[in-house]
Amino acid sequence: MQIDTADLLERFLRYVRIDTRAHPDSPTCPSSPGQWDLIRLLARELQEIGAAEVGTSEFGYVTATLPATPGCETAPVIAWCAHVDTAPNLPGGAKPIVHRAYDGRPIVLPDDPTQRLTVETIPFLREAIGQDVITASGTTLLGADDKAGIAIVLQAARHLLRHPEIPHGKIRVCFNPDEEIARGVDKLDLTQLGAQAAYTLDGAERGEICHETFSADAARLTIAGVASHPGWAKDVMVNALRLAGRYLAALPMAQSPERTSGREGFIHPISCTGSAEEATVSFILRDFEVEGLAAKRALMEQIAAELRAAEPKARVELKFTEQYRNMRYWLEQDMRPVEFARAAARRAGVEPFAQPIRGGTDGSRLTQRGLPTPNIFTGMHEVHSQREWVTRQDMGKATETLVHLAQLWAGR
Ligand SMILES: [Zn+2]
Repeated sequence: MQIDTADLLERFLRYVRIDTRAHPDSPTCPSSPGQWDLIRLLARELQEIGAAEVGTSEFGYVTATLPATPGCETAPVIAWCAHVDTAPNLPGGAKPIVHRAYDGRPIVLPDDPTQRLTVETIPFLREAIGQDVITASGTTLLGADDKAGIAIVLQAARHLLRHPEIPHGKIRVCFNPDEEIARGVDKLDLTQLGAQAAYTLDGAERGEICHETFSADAARLTIAGVASHPGWAKDVMVNALRLAGRYLAALPMAQSPERTSGREGFIHPISCTGSAEEATVSFILRDFEVEGLAAKRALMEQIAAELRAAEPKARVELKFTEQYRNMRYWLEQDMRPVEFARAAARRAGVEPFAQPIRGGTDGSRLTQRGLPTPNIFTGMHEVHSQREWVTRQDMGKATETLVHLAQLWAGR
């Protein structure tokens, strides 16, 4: 299969120059105006390649259709999804650099020479020797997360439209805003999408086909103390900040993100605000199993109870909210979407492997909502950092995987 990776690369370079950094404090969807610039461009490009039913919702979801080829009209409808936004932690709007036929020497990013990529510190980079490595210039994200996914989806769509002899069922394309601030599928109309299975192109190294993510809850601890003039506070004042500190100190360090990996979960305080009178601490809880998540809730409840017992005059409240669940719970009931993705990767000459994601994807929530959505590799690495990189060849392999996937769903 001859994927036009020159066009794929041009496409990718075009997208990463647009600043689509998500803004967590914005109430709008998309959360930042820059996302609209890319959304409009993608709608235009989908039209240019000849996709049908190109539409953009008021919330910035771009959808389009690749109609089934003759004889495949009854094949299940699948969707390919990728997100337009980039992580809020660093600026977007990359000045991309293509290191053609990478020679294995350290890559020093010109706009901040302290940002270095070496084969010693990044083992995957050694495998990229000889490939075309794309990086940012040192002060921004590259935005391969997830513009690699977008470029791959568009390139696969273009390939199918240019090769009507490749049989496939109806395919829906979906580009969504605000994945990085966990709102990626909030406003997605699943009826309008009309797919029986979907794939996010938001995975990392070549071959990764993921059907397992964390299960996730959030927690909020509110402590009301007792106010008093500090000069006459003896036996009267209860300082909410000191109680918050005690609560945090009582959490086992062994269950922190800093000390866990693989399949271990954690309790992670993400913010602490307040005064002597009242303090609020926010947490995220993560575990691959809901039982593990329940145990973490119980532990947090127990520490709260101990705090109440130690300081009865304070008011200590702990509230949990569900965020998302491990997609494996639904996918293991019907592994076909995962099996097809693995078979497609093999046809593209890539050995697939499963890796539980220590995070969530848009697919976690889509799967929970009834649309099975495993995650497919794009080749992106060192995401959410200035050293983010991807290769043209890995993006090409992911594109090939999608083209094979389309045929597998049509029984070919
Ligand atoms: Zn992503």
